[in-house]
Amino acid sequence: MNKIVIGTEKQSAFSYIDRNAEQIALLSDNLFWFGEPSLQEYESSALLIEVLEAAGFTTEKGLSGFDTAFLATWGEGGPVIALHAEYDGLPENSQQPGVLKKEPIVEGAPGHCEGHHANATVMTASALALKHTMEQHGLSGTLKVVGAPAEELALSRPYFVRDGYFNDVDLAFHNHIGMDFHTEYDVVQIACIAADFTFLGETAHAGLAPWRGRDALDAVVLMDVGLAQFREHMEPELRAHRVITHGGTQPNIIPEKASVWWMFRHPEAAGVTSLFEQAKNIAEGAALMTKTRLEVNVRSAVWPLRCNQTMADVMQRNIEAIGMPQWSGEELAFAREVQKAAGQPADGLLENVTPLTGPGPLIGASNDCGDISWKVPMGRVWFPGTVPGVSFHNWTAGIPLTSSITHKGTVVGAKALAGAALDFYMEPKLVADAKETFKKELNGITYEPMLPADQQPDCTVNQELMERFRDPMRAHYLAEKPRFT
Ligand SMILES: [Zn+2]
Repeated sequence: MNKIVIGTEKQSAFSYIDRNAEQIALLSDNLFWFGEPSLQEYESSALLIEVLEAAGFTTEKGLSGFDTAFLATWGEGGPVIALHAEYDGLPENSQQPGVLKKEPIVEGAPGHCEGHHANATVMTASALALKHTMEQHGLSGTLKVVGAPAEELALSRPYFVRDGYFNDVDLAFHNHIGMDFHTEYDVVQIACIAADFTFLGETAHAGLAPWRGRDALDAVVLMDVGLAQFREHMEPELRAHRVITHGGTQPNIIPEKASVWWMFRHPEAAGVTSLFEQAKNIAEGAALMTKTRLEVNVRSAVWPLRCNQTMADVMQRNIEAIGMPQWSGEELAFAREVQKAAGQPADGLLENVTPLTGPGPLIGASNDCGDISWKVPMGRVWFPGTVPGVSFHNWTAGIPLTSSITHKGTVVGAKALAGAALDFYMEPKLVADAKETFKKELNGITYEPMLPADQQPDCTVNQELMERFRDPMRAHYLAEKPRFT
């Protein structure tokens, strides 16, 4: 593979990012302290919109019924490149950054223990650098920045694709915090359908006249038994997991309403669809046995995630040209302390970029950008913003997230994203190549949204949680906001 030449255009994007490194860190830290869970990213999206508008982007809020989604656009003509990322934290994940023991910022509150705040930071910083560079060098093309809520619920992006937000897009890029600096191609994450199965019956006094009730919780239990029996006949790649979200109110009332939230996964969209259909049959059987009525509400339906090989090649060349951040002795020592706290080998931080990964491997997790990756060629960069060995969604992953390790990681991540996008803006043939390889990769499969055509998102998830915690969390917001120049 040819080593990439850093021309004057790319140099100008990289020096914009270096010049604004403190502002990038400040943006990342502001988002960290907001600590907002899925669908409650009001402060986070408002700040990202403010930063993008200040730089001259035109914005649209509330895409597809998601209050905390946005689209920021700049430029004109082709190619049209979309950057998209998430900024949600997680319930129960409040953790004081920099503290080497479990210590919530606010007891019981949500927070960032993975690093999606850094993902949105990288997307935004690279967008600002791209606009600056394209203006300075008279490059044509359109840049779209898509703020995607609720990645942790694998939720929003299939709605955006279904509703046409990617119809005029040529290529899309995603970015994610990681322990190393790398990119990948082929199918790397699996498809998922998540749905609520709600059974509706009739209350009765559970002691005096239980025979007069129709027990909705019985239906949830019978559906569980039905799926447990069906597991013997499932293909090995299939996954089915659930939580009971409503099981009645007190034991002496036969529950008239009970609800279970199931997630089904398979490496292919067709596979997950057929498991979902079987689950609906089982649920109908449970309703029949209990004389209850079944309602099914799809929460999300996500295609597997694939990365385009042409885009991966371009991304890899940029990653290699940029290289890993230079870690200080202090950062290496801090990383070892974090690793000890996480009960992991104290190996410190990686010094070298990772070779191109692919084809695959396929991991057992899903990501709501899957649908985008079957609609248009998509590339992704993993940037080295956290400490190897920490466990995502666990307090140990929160420790490094406002440190200079995360800050340096976001700087190289923004450079890789801006650098790869610039290569496509400057060389139209590369865009055509990506579309060509994408066509081959699809191998005859035509993308159709799995999401029902009339499905609307329920944005009340986590609302009560934030009503409880918004005020105590607000006390920790940073006073200083980023100002990019
Ligand atoms: Zn994530």
